[in-house]
Amino acid sequence: MKERVEGKVYLIGAGPGCPDLITLRGLRALRKADLVILDKLLPPTFAADLGSKAETIWLGDGEVRRSQDEINELMIEAVRAGRTVARLKGGDPFVFGRGGEALDALDAAGIPWEAVPGLSSGIAAPSNAAFPLTDRARARSFAAVTARRIGGGVNDRFPSADSLVVFMGVEALGDVARRLIDSGWPSDTPAAIVERATQPWERRISGPLGKIAHLARQGNVESPALLLVGAVARDTGTRRTLLYTGLDPTNFRTLGNLIHWPALHVVPDRAGYEALPEVVAGLRSARFSVVIFTSRIGARSFFREIEEYQLDARSLGGTTVVAAGGGTAQVLREFGILADVVPGEPGSQGILRSTHIRKDDELLVVQGTHAPGGLCEEIARRGAAVVRLGLHRVEPNPDLGRPLPDHDVIYFTSPSGVRAWHAAYGDAGFGAEPWCIGDVTRQQLSEFGIDAKVVSPHVPD
Ligand code: SAH
Repeated sequence: MKERVEGKVYLIGAGPGCPDLITLRGLRALRKADLVILDKLLPPTFAADLGSKAETIWLGDGEVRRSQDEINELMIEAVRAGRTVARLKGGDPFVFGRGGEALDALDAAGIPWEAVPGLSSGIAAPSNAAFPLTDRARARSFAAVTARRIGGGVNDRFPSADSLVVFMGVEALGDVARRLIDSGWPSDTPAAIVERATQPWERRISGPLGKIAHLARQGNVESPALLLVGAVARDTGTRRTLLYTGLDPTNFRTLGNLIHWPALHVVPDRAGYEALPEVVAGLRSARFSVVIFTSRIGARSFFREIEEYQLDARSLGGTTVVAAGGGTAQVLREFGILADVVPGEPGSQGILRSTHIRKDDELLVVQGTHAPGGLCEEIARRGAAVVRLGLHRVEPNPDLGRPLPDHDVIYFTSPSGVRAWHAAYGDAGFGAEPWCIGDVTRQQLSEFGIDAKVVSPHVPD
């Protein structure tokens, strides 16, 4: 008799590592999974950032280093126990991803699977940096190649193409460049390295092929990185490179060639969760006349948490909903809420000016626990009751302090980001043109003696 199998494996191409570059089909499959196995190429928080609450095994964790066979075994056992597995691979599963080997093992075990295509880093890295792989006048072909041979040696067969993308080459860069030059690429051919493409701390280093290995060594380039050679690496040089130090670069990519260099990071705040049952009771009895969301992250975690209590957007049915800005309003829309109030002015000032607060009202403020208490105090001063729900806080990013890549502009989105930046890099870290989101952040910069320009992001209404 055939063994009864209920679960399945989704072999999902997750893209180059920025969560919103997964495909919709990949995201839907991820949402069905109760076990997630994450490639080491992807950040450990990748699945959680996309709202997954499933048990997650991150293969980049030195403690749980597993062989391909062990991973296959893990998937097979999980499915036999009735679980649905999302195996998330960096890029596309079948581009230097050993996807075929995993599927052979699943087939041999009679496990149902589905493969979901992903955006390969070989395409995403150049595209994200606006390096064209093809160009009608100069590049009629591109090729992708691995720097390695099976067993660990350096590849000695490189295809000829106008643009070349070399995978897995960091340790072998010197050898690879030499072999390319020996096989006929002039040593002044434009080349570039893209490290951690689309992820925080991305770096791009450009130079002639003959010098690129040296430049990479000097810059301490680490895996994952791609080597781009030929037409694709020509410097178009028309756009400013902008280091974005805020949490979420979504609305800022039109301002320049954006590299995410996050000064702060988000951590869940247990203390805040203690208020959750009280908030849930308040939502059930429709006690709050106004709910204020001060950030995208706050809005997202609010809806995730109330879902645990079987509540959804309807629990805000009779409530006036305030979103601190356009970005927060956008997130609310994803959860089916059109904010009633979106102040034109940033910060607490804007919220207080545009929200009608009556004496004896009860308000809910969803806000990170790091935020100063001014907003809630002012609401209380106007005679209303206020409950503050904080599910997260932001802290200086422990990775801040990495050597800065070349850039023309640094962009700040909060005073705490400016302080974290100053603590990590000192005065010298402000060498480029400083831009910021509003006056409160500009004030903090000027306290460090820096004169910054306020430049607004492009947020659709
Ligand atoms: N299946 C993946 C490639 C896996 S091989 C894909 O389609 O992208 C691993 C190699 O991919 C790394 O050594 C590196 O060369 C490249 N790579 C993967 N993700 C990358 C990223 N975010 N930035 C730069 N290179 C990346």
